[in-house]
Amino acid sequence: DAAPNTRSFEADVSRLLHLMVHSVYSDKDVFLRELVSNAADACEKLRYEAIASPALLGDDPQPRITVTLDPDQRRLTIEDNGIGMSAAEMAEALGTIARSGTRAFMEQIAAGEKAEGSQLIGQFGVGFYSAFIVADRVDVTSRRAGGDEAALWSSDGLGTYTLGAVEASEVPVRGTRVVLHLKEDAADYSQRFSVEAKIKAQSGHVPVPIFLREKPDAEPQQIADGAALWTRARADISEEDYTDFYRTNAGQFDTPALTVHYRAEGTHEYNVLAFVPETRPFDLFDPDRAGRMKLYVRRVFITDEAQILPRYLRFVRGLVDSQDLPLNVSREMIQESPVLASIQKGVTNRLLSELNKLARTEPDRFRQVWEHFGAVLKEGLYEDYGRRETLLKLARFRTSNSGTEWRSLQDYVAGLKENQTAIYYAVGADLDRLASSPQLEGFRARGIDVLLLTDQVDSFWASSGIDFEGKPFKSVTQGLSDLSLIPLNEGEAPAAETSDEVASFITFVKTTLGEAVSDVRASDRLTESAVCLVAPDSGMDRQLEKLLAGAGR
Ligand code: ADP
Ligand code: MG
Repeated sequence: DAAPNTRSFEADVSRLLHLMVHSVYSDKDVFLRELVSNAADACEKLRYEAIASPALLGDDPQPRITVTLDPDQRRLTIEDNGIGMSAAEMAEALGTIARSGTRAFMEQIAAGEKAEGSQLIGQFGVGFYSAFIVADRVDVTSRRAGGDEAALWSSDGLGTYTLGAVEASEVPVRGTRVVLHLKEDAADYSQRFSVEAKIKAQSGHVPVPIFLREKPDAEPQQIADGAALWTRARADISEEDYTDFYRTNAGQFDTPALTVHYRAEGTHEYNVLAFVPETRPFDLFDPDRAGRMKLYVRRVFITDEAQILPRYLRFVRGLVDSQDLPLNVSREMIQESPVLASIQKGVTNRLLSELNKLARTEPDRFRQVWEHFGAVLKEGLYEDYGRRETLLKLARFRTSNSGTEWRSLQDYVAGLKENQTAIYYAVGADLDRLASSPQLEGFRARGIDVLLLTDQVDSFWASSGIDFEGKPFKSVTQGLSDLSLIPLNEGEAPAAETSDEVASFITFVKTTLGEAVSDVRASDRLTESAVCLVAPDSGMDRQLEKLLAGAGR
């Protein structure tokens, strides 16, 4: 066997480790959840590969995670009989930065973002390195399923690691053993009273059973049964169970704002467990951000890239477990399957209707969801014509009359003024500036409410010829609106006929500005300001025009 050789971490890994160890003060337990979740992932990967190659399971087909404590040596060991890693895979997975998220993680920690480091670790997929929060040396011994060589990776987390071959008998069948040599102030993590409760609380619902050995020579005792939470009846599951599952499954630290758990029966049978988070993930607007719904087939994890939900629901976390998809079909084939298409449709409809229900039954909670994810949901208004109506019913808006409240379109339409046939909106980057824009004066003078749109996506859907309950959306900056048909509020002077003085003033302005404008008109829109710029009726909305100009067309 080759002697172990010393290698340096990628520069980014060294920095990451330093930041991680120095940014997590209170929630040290996070490392336990991360290591157990890696062990469970490894078992799930094996379960998947064994469909095509059952021989990988050898004579040890039951997946299991074993945690062994050694208070005398101040050690904690987490072991799994999952897929394992070859030496090359260890160098790749535990020495380099495999994920783009890592850099973003460091940027957020370095920028002193409000969240403590521990809350970011799971989200960014840098879980393994969290071991160094409590350990001053970590040894990883691993053997790839089907391989007959084992390797040992070892590091103090300070810049280098060693990697070398070990006797294959070190890892009897396959899998990975992670040994944490605990720091003095982390000695509790080698004690049963501390570790057992934490694992049960944080990882009690991973889909692999967990055993605990109090001492290296003690009998392992099962502390979590590995039953899939989503297959149990709703009545048997507590709020805490759901939250724990969500946190382990999604790597989040918040509490779900909405939990959707049901079993679809009929043409296709599947279980769905989905969560709408309470906080906004860091990469929500990252163009590469994929959906986060996992696909299982009869409890076997298949892929998290099945795009079960449309892009505008990419903030939803959770899983679908299908009874009907064939297990031995490739991930690529699944994409084409009509069963998947039917699941996509069913789950999307259900989520939207659950959001609708939340809006009716718990408006405050829904408002929170809308504040975080409304800008994403609105992408559906131009990406998913079929569900436009549903999405418009969910949408909430700040308006010129609503102050800081959010209004629904149903409300808006119920408050239409006499002769008002359109839903008026103004688009801009800043709510306060929009609210005080001269463009709104004529509307305000007539008591007409105007939607104030400040999200990037707004220019796109609002100008796409959309309507709600037969009322078209119309930009206040777009051409002359039909304000003269709508009476002014009581007390305001009626619109004056264009007098001779106004007419000669208009001629003067036209001559002065020449080609720079296409027309100059007297307007009903202004009550206080002298002039404002408007786009021609057929022209582009001014905000959209700016946006496109900014994007270099
Ligand atoms: P993530 O789990 O999000 O990929 P981690 O930092 O937790 O990120 O783990 C990095 C990688 O190390 C994993 O993707 C996996 O390839 C490998 N790994 C970690 N723990 C194990 C394990 N117990 N068995 C097999 N591979 C593992
Ligand atoms: Mg992980």
